[in-house]
Amino acid sequence: MTTNGYKAWPKERTRELFAKPFNDLLSQAHQALRDNFPHNKIQCSTLYNIKTGGCPENCGYCSQSAHYNTDLKKQPLDSLENVISAAKAAKDGGASRFCMGAAWRSPRQPDLDVVKAMIKAVKGMGLETCVTLGMVSEDQADQLKEVGLDYYNHNIDTSEEFYRYVVTTRTFDDRLKTLDNVSGAGIKVCCGLIIGMGESSNDHMEALMTLANLPQPPESVPINMLIPMDGTPMANAAKVHPFDFVRVIAVARIMMPRSYVRLSAGRSAMSDEMHALCLFAGANSIFFGDKLLTTENSSITRDEMLLQKLGIGIE
Ligand code: SF4
Repeated sequence: MTTNGYKAWPKERTRELFAKPFNDLLSQAHQALRDNFPHNKIQCSTLYNIKTGGCPENCGYCSQSAHYNTDLKKQPLDSLENVISAAKAAKDGGASRFCMGAAWRSPRQPDLDVVKAMIKAVKGMGLETCVTLGMVSEDQADQLKEVGLDYYNHNIDTSEEFYRYVVTTRTFDDRLKTLDNVSGAGIKVCCGLIIGMGESSNDHMEALMTLANLPQPPESVPINMLIPMDGTPMANAAKVHPFDFVRVIAVARIMMPRSYVRLSAGRSAMSDEMHALCLFAGANSIFFGDKLLTTENSSITRDEMLLQKLGIGIE
């Protein structure tokens, strides 16, 4: 929403998009992609866990939450040396951005100091940097900006209404506050959704409206397909129809035409045809690498073969 309360995407306009015949929607979304980005190119990021498990938050989809009995092996904050070698491997593999994730509610200052050193080192290698560290204050966001952080990831996951079924240790407003602190510091925002947690298509609509109506829509919008994790409350969540997932990608592309829309978690379970459909519908970014935090990702070899078949290059 702008400062005068104007919403670029009110409910009716958003609903019309969701109600379009599938091919009309895809055609419009693909045109929006072509109008705003180089054709047949995608951006690649690599995601690396710098601190794993033991998180005090209770996100119902996450194996890193300390609230659930999962077989995840906890790991403390990684060393600078390990991060540098992972970033080098990512760069050699074709990634232009290196994303570092830590399972925290919010970072403590001594930990933030270590992460700042990591950001500086990765930037020094010529990579863009992104971190996801939980909630950050204005001062913490300013510190991250000072060391040159490019992107901060903080997903809203779903609509405000459905949020309480996803996590109860923080509120939707807490989430928006961090987004505000990050963008206020001049850091680009990466913020997206998880599809398949039991939410309705109305929640998809509301969540996309929240993002598209921000004073500045996120520069990066990851769209994740839930990977049900054993031991979490969402282990048995019902599968979403693939076309409903594609529809969310297409609507995100139309509502936020200049944002990178990233096909994120869940790719390992998607067919080549599904990948092709998502890339046609407006996705123009992926996570590259065999692991995605604690879950399996599509293998690098498979991605390379797929992109080659589709004639898509890496930015
Ligand atoms: S999603 Fe992030 S904040 Fe939520 S439990 Fe997992 S690591 Fe913690």
